[in-house]
Amino acid sequence: MPRCVVARRVHFNAAHRLHNPERSAEWNRTTFGPCNNPNYHGHNYELDLEVEGDIDPETGYVVDVALLQQLADDLIISALDHRNLNLDVPWFRERLPSAENIARFCWEQLAPRIPNGRLYRIRLWETPRNYVEYQGA
Ligand SMILES: [Zn+2]
Repeated sequence: MPRCVVARRVHFNAAHRLHNPERSAEWNRTTFGPCNNPNYHGHNYELDLEVEGDIDPETGYVVDVALLQQLADDLIISALDHRNLNLDVPWFRERLPSAENIARFCWEQLAPRIPNGRLYRIRLWETPRNYVEYQGA
């Protein structure tokens, strides 16, 4: 069966602060720079969702990208968009809301819900110059 990777890019914006309460204020400032600013700051995140699977001969699709967008809306965007990740999203109470961990969060929400194929990779752009990739544990 011919296989293909299908990708959908979705967008959200959110505020965060990187701060490890186990470490000193100076360590946090040095380690996280402006992402440690006490009053939070925002990013415009772009999230690429890649699904790999067999091309269905009946539709020619691996997965309907409209369905992928709907799943992203329901499972990710509704939870993260226009939120303060530190304060509003319980998943981040015990985890730093770094791009790496946000990608993990997105993976955990979406991977079990892909109807055809499997979630292959997530690429999260925190800025136009920085992205992280996650492919599961
Ligand atoms: Zn930041």
